[in-house]
Amino acid sequence: MDKIGQVPDRYLSDEQRLMRQTCRRYVDEVVRPFIAANREREWLFDPDQRLPAELLDEADRTGLRGLGVPEQYGGVGLDPATEAQTFSIIATEIARGDSGLADKLVQNWKISVLLRSLASRALQDIWFPRYMADPQFLMAHCLTEPRGASDRWLPYNVPEANMDTTAVHADGHWIIDGRKQFISNGYDASLYVVYANTDRSAGMLQGTSSFLVPRNSPGLEVTRCNETIGGRFMNNGEIVFEDCRVPEDHLLAHGDALGQAGVYFRPGKIIQAAKNLGVGVRAFELAADYTQNYVQGGRILIKHQAVALRLADMATRIEAVRALLARASRAVDDNAPDADTLCNMAKVFASEEILKVAQHALELHGGNGVMLDFGVEKIFRDAAIFLHMDATVDISRFKIVKSMFPHTAGKYAGPEN
Ligand SMILES: Cc1cc2nc3c(=O)[nH]c(=O)nc-3n(C[C@H](O)[C@H](O)[C@H](O)COP(=O)(O)OP(=O)(O)OC[C@H]3O[C@@H](n4cnc5c(N)ncnc54)[C@H](O)[C@@H]3O)c2cc1C
Repeated sequence: MDKIGQVPDRYLSDEQRLMRQTCRRYVDEVVRPFIAANREREWLFDPDQRLPAELLDEADRTGLRGLGVPEQYGGVGLDPATEAQTFSIIATEIARGDSGLADKLVQNWKISVLLRSLASRALQDIWFPRYMADPQFLMAHCLTEPRGASDRWLPYNVPEANMDTTAVHADGHWIIDGRKQFISNGYDASLYVVYANTDRSAGMLQGTSSFLVPRNSPGLEVTRCNETIGGRFMNNGEIVFEDCRVPEDHLLAHGDALGQAGVYFRPGKIIQAAKNLGVGVRAFELAADYTQNYVQGGRILIKHQAVALRLADMATRIEAVRALLARASRAVDDNAPDADTLCNMAKVFASEEILKVAQHALELHGGNGVMLDFGVEKIFRDAAIFLHMDATVDISRFKIVKSMFPHTAGKYAGPEN
């Protein structure tokens, strides 16, 4: 039987098969042994010490950092007709190794896709070579603020829901003021994409602009690394901008930045769901192994019927996630009209199903399941994080139904029309 949760080799192109093989070697020979030998390392409260540089160095040697980067800068030239599908296959594989490490890497892919589409040639000439030259170079995408996240996803397109972060044009620069929170790679990124309001009188779809902000920009300060319950090898951070000056040519999108960000969010949600699937695949591997080796009542666990049924439930949920993810990735690659809807479906469905899969894994391990030194609880913690990333469960569902019934869904509390 094919591996649960993974696209069988026969459906992959030669390019995809080779990439997955290389990635699988990296996961099985580098990532998994590191995680198994360093259970406490994710709990170091010095974020700089958590993930050894060698893991990103090795990812670089494996070619995993060049996804999304144009070939002329040394990136991995994926077939555009199947790019989202390839992202999905590789992200699943990395997250099977470690969810936080996958977060770190995929954020770079997602932002590379955004930059190749929105950044000027001059900016690409500066930043892609710097990124490719340094295996520790990370990028971050800053939307969320202390008083605004979910409403930006909907979005409520009225001035009162606008971003608090502002950018004002003066003397050949943009001056950014505000604060961003919960940002993936926010603590240790070298380059930030920042969204800010540039027109208070307009709704956020017309009044939000995006900027490329190098870490050493005057007025940019990283104020903390958040201590998350899962995905701990990705350093989630908070950033304050105070009279932060960026040259005017660092503007990526003027006014319509949220609409333009579709190029980031569509493959982004695919990658999000794919990482989530990888966590489920790992949960199944652990549970299948444990139940076929651990003896209770004189028999290995899987011989007990209730245990066997739980494995069936895990496998079914994982395969359902994989099927929806395949459908959504294909829609993104085909630029299909329902791609956005399917992306939200895949992301929200994966988050709930894989959390249930992780719960089964936790329960099948009994007491061992909750012991830090055993390592299974990590899967459960990693799975929980996905409920909140790239929009909450409720907001994702609302976006799904709004895309299907734009004139009526959720309108009950508004004026009758
Ligand atoms: C690990 C992690 C990584 C992240 N990475 C990034 C990143 O790289 N960049 C970035 O910009 N953000 C990032 N985020 C932020 C993430 O997108 C937000 O946490 C998420 O969108 C929810 O926003 P919030 O936390 O402010 O919750 P809130 O918006 O305060 O929501 C709280 C609750 O209220 C509900 N709610 C709020 N408003 C409404 C509404 N109008 N209608 C119905 N229900 C509503 C929500 O569904 C939720 O249940 C990350 C978050 C996490 C946990």
